[in-house]
Amino acid sequence: MLLPALLAALAPITAGAQEAAPDLVFTGAITGADHQHYKPVPFDVPKGVERITVTLSYDKASKTVVDLGLWDPVRFRGWSGGTRDRFTIAPSDASPGYLPGALPAGRWQVMLGVPNARAGSKAAYRVTVAFDRGAVRHASAAIADPPIDRNPGWYRGDLHMHDAHSDGSCASQSGRRVPCPLFRTVEAAAKAGLDFVAVTDHNTTAHFSGLRELQPFFDRLLLIPGAEITTFGGHANLIGPRGFVDFRIGSRAVPDVRALQRAAAASGGLLSLNHPALPSGEACMGCGWTWPDTDWSAVTAIEAVNANAAEGPLAGIGFWYARLNAGHRLTGIAGSDNHDPDAPSGKAPIGRPTTVVHAANLSTDAILAGIRAGNVFIDVRGGAKRLLEVEGAAGGRVAAMGGTLDAAPETLLRIHARGVAGATAELIANGKPAQTQPIDGDDARLVFRLGRPGCGWAAVNVRDGAGHPLLIGNPIYLRCRSK
Ligand SMILES: [Zn+2]
Ligand SMILES: [Zn+2]
Repeated sequence: MLLPALLAALAPITAGAQEAAPDLVFTGAITGADHQHYKPVPFDVPKGVERITVTLSYDKASKTVVDLGLWDPVRFRGWSGGTRDRFTIAPSDASPGYLPGALPAGRWQVMLGVPNARAGSKAAYRVTVAFDRGAVRHASAAIADPPIDRNPGWYRGDLHMHDAHSDGSCASQSGRRVPCPLFRTVEAAAKAGLDFVAVTDHNTTAHFSGLRELQPFFDRLLLIPGAEITTFGGHANLIGPRGFVDFRIGSRAVPDVRALQRAAAASGGLLSLNHPALPSGEACMGCGWTWPDTDWSAVTAIEAVNANAAEGPLAGIGFWYARLNAGHRLTGIAGSDNHDPDAPSGKAPIGRPTTVVHAANLSTDAILAGIRAGNVFIDVRGGAKRLLEVEGAAGGRVAAMGGTLDAAPETLLRIHARGVAGATAELIANGKPAQTQPIDGDDARLVFRLGRPGCGWAAVNVRDGAGHPLLIGNPIYLRCRSK
């Protein structure tokens, strides 16, 4: 009878994402002799480990109960009792009940506590230990595992916000302005009906453990860890890093902007330049992007719309279009840059603007891949399920936004727009308005014919009846024929 029960106990652990094999597996039995004793399971952590993830499974048929905890070579690192069959710990963050911090090489101990084991009983247990390092990453360490939604589709989110872990604030119980708890920020995002948020406190990872605590409760909202890398020469969101990235450009640790960009890429996150067209100087220190040696191939995205700035000289769109015209491939995204989930008037609430990403599923990896692929549009106002699908067609081939076509004499952009009846679709060719068409009806399809487009890029935006930007599409790249 033991074996089927053991398999049943193991099933929930392996039912999530496909999991790489753990580095260490310890099996044994809890017997009546272990009743009300602690049973250490020692293991050695080699140098260079960036995250440790532990699982426990055991046969519960004989009313045996096993608690779970962890000690590093010198100190206590956490305890989850009988409530958790898995935890993860890293320098930047840890599961609830566990303490993030350095992972020194040496002898660690998983600690099994046995509050109950009947006399004469024998319950098989299995402890696994998985190390993340370099390219080896274990899916079970993700903040949301498995994905919140396994279906491909358009997902709506806000990629820029702050809470008590940097300069976010809100009204306290008695109305005083206080650092605003992360919970309030995430709750406001859930109320806004978003599918995902990136919480991007300035230069820190202190909120990552909080996201781990909140994710199981907010099980319809993907929580993506992020950091606003805040330097003297500009701000960039690092979305989805695995840990801390040093922001001190000009220091020995980070000699120049390219060193920062290499570290950002190694962290697994994607880099997006925030509010890049703002002035930089005493009016707004380090706000605009001014690093001259930026490696544009290591920038994934530009915050084309920050808060309410969707047009005018301070909007990011002109900065983005200029880089596209210079031949760089950059996805235009948006963020509210919310600092108060109660969003007093004049400031953008969470979800305004919204970035809408076509992704393979609702997980951090898939949203990052979707932004990298560029099938993305910005909903300047958010708050509704507007849609802007753009498909390019040339020479018998098709491409979505972010894709590439060989420019042909008959190049078409087919538009599917929902929720914008009475608005105007505007074709942008290499940064300049080229054609417009009215959008009739709530579920509209229309086609732009690009005469002789040449090379460069084309995109479609939607303007409201007063001429203000409502939806902002990403480019389809038009490649010149090589002969
Ligand atoms: Zn900023
Ligand atoms: Zn910000």
